[in-house]
Amino acid sequence: MAHARRPFVGGNWKMHGDSAHALALAEAVAARAGSFGAEIELAAFPPFPYLAAVGRVLGGSGVHLGAQDVSAEANGAHTGQVSAEMLLDLGCTHVIVGHSERRHGLGESDELTGAKAAIALASGLTCVLCVGETLAERQAGHAHQVTARQLRAALKGLDATALDRLVLAYEPVWAIGTGVSATPQDAAEAHGELRKCLGFLYDAGLAARTRIIYGGSCNPGNAQELFAQPGVDGGLIGGASLKAGDFAQIAKCAAESGRRNLASAVPQQERN
Ligand code: PEP
Repeated sequence: MAHARRPFVGGNWKMHGDSAHALALAEAVAARAGSFGAEIELAAFPPFPYLAAVGRVLGGSGVHLGAQDVSAEANGAHTGQVSAEMLLDLGCTHVIVGHSERRHGLGESDELTGAKAAIALASGLTCVLCVGETLAERQAGHAHQVTARQLRAALKGLDATALDRLVLAYEPVWAIGTGVSATPQDAAEAHGELRKCLGFLYDAGLAARTRIIYGGSCNPGNAQELFAQPGVDGGLIGGASLKAGDFAQIAKCAAESGRRNLASAVPQQERN
């Protein structure tokens, strides 16, 4: 029986554009968000300098404000870092942790990623935790071991009660920003393995209610098929989130998939 998890779609704007672009994009996303109501959870992750201004535009639209990273430290002498408390102060409710552009681009370790996830969750932020294998790891047949290792390390020491606000993102590194998406079957298999891993680390209930979203060259042309896979609960969208129309199309695919799941699902009170 399918479990009715509320689909999640996030737009990771990365380091693109200027303030005028960010505000125009936020306005366009906010204008389209109304049609989804509470069916799906939508979030935008603008660059740090534009968080406050984008937050003001998104206010009341139902689109959550998120940051692309957070410090593992609570406060103090950490030049250039931004704490979870500061993000909350700016109106953020969400944060991305462990994106491959930080793991592989900046060499951030599994342990550092875990410390960031822990502080984000403890602060009350919804943590979009990214895991994913490189092409070499996949070709060597190690994809599932890699994502399981990343997941275990990131959640180390965290009690199940801390994970209510966890959204897990399967983001194969080779699919991010390349135009080459995972096949729907690959995504379904990877999500299934991650869900099994959550069940092993915690319990079947937590595994069944945790949203696992897909990220990697998701666009309006492939979103429907990807989100129709069992266990794929929406997406983290990079390039396609920079066009409000494309982002809305992708969100619509997630909403449709959520509706189908709801029709064949376990009771309403088990929804996220
Ligand atoms: C991402 O950066 O999380 C991402 C999925 O990027 P893209 O959609 O551009 O592949």
